[in-house]
Amino acid sequence: MDQYRVFGNPIKQSRSPFIHQFFAKETEQKINYESELVAIDSFDEKIIKFMGEQGKGANITVPFKEQALALCDQLSERARLAGAVNTLSFIDGVILGDNTDGLGLVQDLQRNNVHLKNSRILLLGAGGAAKGVILPLLDQHPQMIVIANRTVSKAESICKQFNLHENKSKLRAYGFDDVTDQNFDIIINATSASLNGKIPPISGQLVGADVVCYDMVYGKELTPFLKWAKNEGADHIIDGLGMLVGQAAESFAIWRGIKPEVESVITSLRKSLAAE
Ligand code: NDP
Repeated sequence: MDQYRVFGNPIKQSRSPFIHQFFAKETEQKINYESELVAIDSFDEKIIKFMGEQGKGANITVPFKEQALALCDQLSERARLAGAVNTLSFIDGVILGDNTDGLGLVQDLQRNNVHLKNSRILLLGAGGAAKGVILPLLDQHPQMIVIANRTVSKAESICKQFNLHENKSKLRAYGFDDVTDQNFDIIINATSASLNGKIPPISGQLVGADVVCYDMVYGKELTPFLKWAKNEGADHIIDGLGMLVGQAAESFAIWRGIKPEVESVITSLRKSLAAE
């Protein structure tokens, strides 16, 4: 049976084994998918060992996505631009790296009937997750993407990297306080603030009934950012569970050549989250 694995630290909380086993059943693929905790200093050796054991592919999660990139022999364009890899494929001893996080986000927005073409997007955060979604978002031809981050220099350097060619000037960088009187269609929280019960300090005036608010974080209850957005009057709020399943579906498609349906696994995960 073909072997797949997710590597990270911590890893106990990972829902990837559940998701991929669900996909395998649904698509009648015979695979085994497990999770493995990796000590901070032994990422490379774990991956090489898994390859030697005939591993076919791996997902990589926090904090190893940059290290995974460095280990690859070949990279997709989106992984190279994101500077991070979440999907490895092992083919004839060659390590191929891809990043499916951005596609997961775009597909989840589309699944929720959010129109990206000509939209004005406010992206909060400039870490790995924010960087990973820029190219897939740009591929949908938004009017502009404003990146706001606590450390403004990080947002500026992303803009510099992506504002080339046909994307010229589509991206702008700000600090949270500087985004005040602009109109956005979509606000995406790609900061990890929600994990600590915090929200990025942006003005509530940016939110309105018709502004879609998306948090990459998800949980049993509304995340702090989505609670705040709802209080500010947002009608359409979405958490990151669908993004998680979407990125997994893209990894599965890369490995198995078949794209699983995401709706049933999202429903199932939603139920188990509610029961926790
Ligand atoms: P990073 O550590 O690379 O970046 C964290 C970002 O959050 C930085 O921009 C940081 O700002 C900002 N930040 C942290 N705390 C605060 C705060 N209190 N107020 C304002 N900004 C803050 O993390 P990632 O980019 O990898 O991940 C971001 C989030 O996205 C995580 O919560 C992760 O779980 C989630 N995620 C979800 C996925 C999904 O499939 N649903 C996929 C990938 C990520 P600064 O630069 O100033 O430090």
